[in-house]
Amino acid sequence: MIGFQNLHAHTHFDDGIASAEEMVKASIEAGLTSVGICCHSPILTQKNNWCIPIKEVPAFQQEVYAAREKYRGIIDVFCGVELDIMSGMWADIKGFDYVIGAIHYLPLPMGENEFLYGEVDLNRNDLEGYIARIYNGDRDAAAEYYYSQYELVANNKDVDIVAHFDLLTKFDEYEITPPELLIFDEKSPRYQEAALEAMKLLVRRDKIFEINTGAVSRGYRETFYPSETLLKALRRMGGRITLSTDAHNPAHAGFGLPAAAQLALSCGFKEVWVLSAAGFRPVSIKKLLD
Ligand SMILES: [Zn+2]
Ligand SMILES: [Zn+2]
Repeated sequence: MIGFQNLHAHTHFDDGIASAEEMVKASIEAGLTSVGICCHSPILTQKNNWCIPIKEVPAFQQEVYAAREKYRGIIDVFCGVELDIMSGMWADIKGFDYVIGAIHYLPLPMGENEFLYGEVDLNRNDLEGYIARIYNGDRDAAAEYYYSQYELVANNKDVDIVAHFDLLTKFDEYEITPPELLIFDEKSPRYQEAALEAMKLLVRRDKIFEINTGAVSRGYRETFYPSETLLKALRRMGGRITLSTDAHNPAHAGFGLPAAAQLALSCGFKEVWVLSAAGFRPVSIKKLLD
């Protein structure tokens, strides 16, 4: 049977609220035929409360492996990691079935080759402050710095999937937010060039992009990542996609997957890529929606 897959479900090992087993059960109830339980990779250089502590990684993996055995034949369970480029532990990742590459930080230039880093998705005020104070109001420059970091994701051979490609727009929705409140100008040539250059490199390195419904399920947005404009560009470049809920709560295990599939179709995609025991394979979106 062909069913939806979500490879992006969090647990209480990071900033999720449920156990791996609870997320697996919720995924079955949501009608998924396979699910990937993942954790935010440990980030040792930045203080945060949303990553798994490094010593808990083995316990996380054991919990996911146990759920895989318990629900074998009912749902396929994979064990993944959402690897932020700030983790600086690229070589140490073992025991995961797949890797989602992610960028949650905006570099804040402090001098020549000297940077601090601020989360782009924590709150609107922080992000506005970074752009006003550190970037002197040059929001395109901030976007250029953000997207340039994808070179690290593209060149990391372990990364299969690119998480929420335009996460920096979390508090912006081009067609919905009043223009004077937009933090970034997604139609500006500099913004577009930065995003499309990063996308081109990721496509060249064969990375799969997720259509991520997480910010909608959590009430931050009405539209998914990436924007429709970027998805259409991805389609033109021959890029590949997967659908994911970035669920931090069992109630969101399957949130918006049919709508994400419809969006993919409307942007010209015919297939989504799903992980199987034999690796990633394409599945017809039309068949999924039947
Ligand atoms: Zn993320
Ligand atoms: Zn996530």
